[in-house]
Amino acid sequence: MKADRQRDIIVCEVGPRDGLQMIQQVLPTSVKLGWIAVEAAAGVPEIEVCSFVPPKLLPQFEDAAEVAAGALRHAGLTVTALVPNLKGAERAFASGVHKINFVLSASESHNRSNVRRSSAESLEDFRRIVELRNSRPEWRSIQLCGGISTAFGCTIEGAVAEDAVLKLAGKYVEYGADKLSIADTVGYANPAQVKRMFTRLRQQLGEIEMAGHFHDTRGLGLANVYAALEAGVRSFDATLGGLGGCPWAPGATGNIVIEDLVFLLESAGLNTGVDLDRLLEVRKIVRAALPDVPLHGALAKAGLPKGFGAHRKTANL
Ligand code: ZN
Repeated sequence: MKADRQRDIIVCEVGPRDGLQMIQQVLPTSVKLGWIAVEAAAGVPEIEVCSFVPPKLLPQFEDAAEVAAGALRHAGLTVTALVPNLKGAERAFASGVHKINFVLSASESHNRSNVRRSSAESLEDFRRIVELRNSRPEWRSIQLCGGISTAFGCTIEGAVAEDAVLKLAGKYVEYGADKLSIADTVGYANPAQVKRMFTRLRQQLGEIEMAGHFHDTRGLGLANVYAALEAGVRSFDATLGGLGGCPWAPGATGNIVIEDLVFLLESAGLNTGVDLDRLLEVRKIVRAALPDVPLHGALAKAGLPKGFGAHRKTANL
């Protein structure tokens, strides 16, 4: 379940969570599990399979525990769930997932509209989640990842101060986060900003593992990945076909496309452990299940370049 030593980079599929949370059509549990199964078989090492939010708020995740249980049957797959609060974490711990992504926003207004409380109150919940995890021996191996959304800008507040993100990240580490995830939730980030942010975080926090979560809303998603790579980030979220359009920008592209992300990384000589041909095949399942939802992706349109495949160990990042 932990990072495979042969992989240079961990790509995490967040489609069953981030990709589906704004989609009205509730996918049957069997379809979600079919998607997870073929993607795990294609070599994707980590999948965020659900969100433990109140089902009344998001009927899409009513089956969260069932989906987690089904995903846990795939040996070698790290199964992750998103939780917004302590109650969600209790359900996530009970479900047996390997990793929990807690989320709060760098932007105070975004946090209030998302989880109806201040960022400080959310942090306090995270502290309690760490305590809860540590109180039960069988939960101690569950990884707790502190997520900071709207870290590069916010649709309500506009610019977000880098110092505010650094402060939240510092608190997460102080409270016991095993890992951090820094998210450009609304696609405002640019590569210079991304490189600066991760460099500063690294300087402040040392060796803690960090993940980048980028949206391609304004076309800079993969450029931001490369900037984060250069700043030492080795873990990235993405979704199949770029599912996860922005609710504030109807029709806009969503998360970065996992097929294109894997292509970028493999082209740079970085091993992801993912079989690109098999990954592209997964689109058929999602297209059949969600015929009205646009699937994005350049690689799916153009195909792999002739002769592409062998890992060229030329990366110098
Ligand atoms: Zn996202």
